[in-house]
Amino acid sequence: MRHVTILGSTGSIGESTLDVICRHPERYAVHALTAHTQVDKLAAQCRQVRPALAVVGTAEAAQALAVQLRRDGLATEVAYGPEALVAAAADPASDTVMAAIVGAAGLPSAMAAACAGKRVLLANKEALVMSGHLFMQAVRDSGATLLPIDSEHNAIFQSLPAQHPQYGAHVEKIILTASGGPFRTRPLDSLHSVTPDEACAHPNWVMGRKISVDSATMMNKGLEVIEAHWLFSAPASAIEVLIHPQSIIHSMVSYRDGSVIAQLGNPDMRTPIAYGLAYPERIEAGVNPLDLARSGGLTFETPDLERFPCLRLAYEAMRAGGSAAAILNAANEVAVEAFLDGCLCFTDIPDLITRTLERCTADTPTSLDDVLEADRKARACAHSMLSSQYVV
Ligand code: NAD
Ligand code: MG
Repeated sequence: MRHVTILGSTGSIGESTLDVICRHPERYAVHALTAHTQVDKLAAQCRQVRPALAVVGTAEAAQALAVQLRRDGLATEVAYGPEALVAAAADPASDTVMAAIVGAAGLPSAMAAACAGKRVLLANKEALVMSGHLFMQAVRDSGATLLPIDSEHNAIFQSLPAQHPQYGAHVEKIILTASGGPFRTRPLDSLHSVTPDEACAHPNWVMGRKISVDSATMMNKGLEVIEAHWLFSAPASAIEVLIHPQSIIHSMVSYRDGSVIAQLGNPDMRTPIAYGLAYPERIEAGVNPLDLARSGGLTFETPDLERFPCLRLAYEAMRAGGSAAAILNAANEVAVEAFLDGCLCFTDIPDLITRTLERCTADTPTSLDDVLEADRKARACAHSMLSSQYVV
């Protein structure tokens, strides 16, 4: 029996994780669930899986949750705040932690799970983008098992040699596939006026709003290139992005001898989640079987960096090293939030990130505090430019 903690259980990945877990009550018990402010959804999840612990973001949310749980006669303990989140991630009562909080807010708890030697199912790509070196070091030091949940990285993990899933002399290239998002073919001169709802209408995947906007700008793929660099010890020159609009091939590894090994499946995050939960076994995930004869063909194209400047910015930040990727990530989070709030137009997202990278120095972080400080400074810088320079 595995005892699982789900950080970010009310999100898209969190809900899919609970869906897979509830299909296998004999294998998995939920120890803790966490959410930011979605009290009603979290209360419903607690009624469903009866965790020992539930963590929320604020005292008000904790009080509202406690009232609901008491009314339902549940013994679930309620805690709140960033420290409670970190404590939940490291709690010895669980052995498996799904890190599915969105953005930089998920870094301290994901890092705590890594330091505590858990089986870490990592959906929160921002943690590796911000602090890849320190995160991988924590995994090595604690003996944690790190399993990538991002579908591309899960595909690469499955396509690398099982005994050593890392880049090496035998690998020519890691090929990350990308759908190209909702604006792949939209006329370039109309991109400045796209709305948040249009940006969040992803053709193949149902996801949270932040990652959906990242997919529309292809910053998501940029963050994934950096994520792949850390997960598989691969240099930037060995990581390639290929647009594949059908999202059937989730990524590939090209070997020196000419072989290319890929992982395929319907675009449903329950497949990588089930893989992470059951590894090295395979369990039923509720995913429809892939029917290639009816899929209507698989196509590929090279990404257009004029249409998707965020992809270029991510490669540049990865090559710059130090805290450049943390600065990139922070500026992107500020820009995406401003876009979703109607305060920044879509095509100004890369512009705000570029200006933030120009203004912040990318020192080399040696601790989690250094990374969080770089994140804080970059956010402040991006916010100050947002208030002074951009008018929608
Ligand atoms: P989401 O917005 O649907 O859910 C986010 C979760 O994080 C929610 O439970 C929310 O309550 C919690 N949260 C938000 N802010 C928080 C804060 N400040 N403190 C504590 N908790 C907070 O996001 P999602 O789409 O499920 O994505 C989660 C992570 O997984 C992201 O890092 C994303 O990049 C990654 N990911 C998602 C998908 C996908 O298909 N959705 C695929 C690959 C990777
Ligand atoms: Mg992905």
